[in-house]
Amino acid sequence: MDCDILIIGGGIVGSSIAYHLAREGRGGEIVVVEPDPTYEFAATPRGNGGIRQLFSLPENIAMAQYGLAFFREFETAMAVDGEPAPIGFQRRGYLLVSDAGEHRQMERNFRFQSAQGVRADCLDRAALGARFPSLRTDDVALAVHSPDDAWIDPHAALQGFRRKARSLGVRYLTDRVVDWQGDGRLARRALLASGETLEAGVHVLAAGAWSAEVAAQIGLQLPVEPMSRETYFFRATGEIEDLPFIKTETHLAFRPEGTGFTGGLPAWEVAPGWTFEVSPGGFEERVWPALARRVPALERLKLERGWAGHYARNRLDLSAIIGAWSGSLDNVYMAVGFSGHGIMHAPAAGRALAELILDRRYGTLDLDRFGYARVRENAPYREQGIV
Ligand SMILES: Cc1cc2nc3c(=O)[nH]c(=O)nc-3n(C[C@H](O)[C@H](O)[C@H](O)COP(=O)(O)OP(=O)(O)OC[C@H]3O[C@@H](n4cnc5c(N)ncnc54)[C@H](O)[C@@H]3O)c2cc1C
Repeated sequence: MDCDILIIGGGIVGSSIAYHLAREGRGGEIVVVEPDPTYEFAATPRGNGGIRQLFSLPENIAMAQYGLAFFREFETAMAVDGEPAPIGFQRRGYLLVSDAGEHRQMERNFRFQSAQGVRADCLDRAALGARFPSLRTDDVALAVHSPDDAWIDPHAALQGFRRKARSLGVRYLTDRVVDWQGDGRLARRALLASGETLEAGVHVLAAGAWSAEVAAQIGLQLPVEPMSRETYFFRATGEIEDLPFIKTETHLAFRPEGTGFTGGLPAWEVAPGWTFEVSPGGFEERVWPALARRVPALERLKLERGWAGHYARNRLDLSAIIGAWSGSLDNVYMAVGFSGHGIMHAPAAGRALAELILDRRYGTLDLDRFGYARVRENAPYREQGIV
C-alpha cells in the first residue's frame, strides 16, 4: 500500500477534503494526485467566489452557512508558520432578483431560508428601487437581499487549503490518473500518466468537471458533464452605488470586483463539453444587453477581458453528489457535480466527507440526501432556487 487515502483531483474540493482529513490526524498517509499545480484550466480559479445562503434545499443552505463561517476565519485558521492566508473575504451581500414572471418560488424559498436562520429581506419593487437606486425595477416582481453573504478570491482559497494541507503532511503528486482499478468489492490502485502505480486503502474522487471520465475508468457512471461558462471583467463609466452579488432568474450574474465588475450570463442551451474559447460577440450580443437592462448606467461600460471556465454540472438535479459509492466498491468516495457552488460548498464537503471516511457516519452536517443512491435510483433531489 502506497498510501492510506488517495484523492483524485486537487482543486478546492479535493484540497478541502485533504485538509479536513489531515487535521483530524487519524487518516494515515494522504496523497492528492493533481496534474496541474498552476490550476490553469480548473474551475476554481475561474469561478466568481460567491458565497450565498439563498437556496431551497436545507443541505445547500447549511453547506453555504458552514462555508461562510469557515471562509471568514480562513486567513488566520489556514496560516502556516505564522504566515496568514488572505482570501479577500468581502461581506457585501447577495441579491436575487425575480424577473421571469414567477415569484412564488422565491417567496417560498425566502420563508424557508429565514426559518433556517438566514438574515435576509424580501423586497418589493419600491423597496428594491429605494435600496439600490441604480437598478431598473419595472419588470421585477420581488427580490431577496441577504446582507451577510460574501465573496472571496477562489484561487487564493485553493492555494491556502493546499498549503495548509501540505503543512499537515498531505503529499501532492503532480501527475494524472489514467486508469483506476478495482477488484471484488474494493478499489485497489490508480495508474498514473508518469507510469507509476499508486495503491490505496480509500479512494476519493474530486476531479471537478473531469470526474465522469475518471469515474468511468473504474465502472462508476456519473451524470456529471463539463458546461462552459463565460465570465467578463468590465468597468462602468458612470457612478453606481455599492452593489451586492446580483443574480437574476433570467440568469444574469455579476458582482463588483475591485474598481469594476465580473459576471456573465450562462447559455444553458449550449451543449455540454469543453470550450475554453470565449464566444465571438457573446458579450456584446447577450451579456451587455442584459446588464444594461438591469442597470441602465451600464449602457456605457468598458469591457476589459473575458474567460471561460467549466461547471461540473450534475444533469440529474444540479446539486453535488457526495458520499460513498454505495452498493458497489466500498472504499470509493466522491465529491463531484457541484455545478456553480463548489467554492462556497468546499469547506462543508471536505468536513463531511472526512467524517464519513474516518467515522463511517456524518457528524457536523448530514449530507445523506446528496449521496450516490439518488443517481442509482434516478431520483432527483432538486434545488428550487436560482442555480
Ligand atoms: C464561471 C464560473 C463561476 C462560478 N462561480 C461560483 C461562485 O460564485 N461560487 C461558487 O461557490 N462556485 C462557483 N463556481 C463553481 C466552482 O468554481 C466549482 O464548483 C469549484 O471550483 C469546483 O471545484 P473542484 O475542486 O471540484 O474542481 P476543479 O477546481 O476543476 O478541480 C478539479 C481538479 O481535478 C484535476 N484532475 C482532472 N483530471 C484528473 C485526473 N485524471 N487525475 C487527477 N486529477 C485530475 C484537475 O486538474 C483540477 O485541478 C463557478 C464556476 C464557474 C465556471
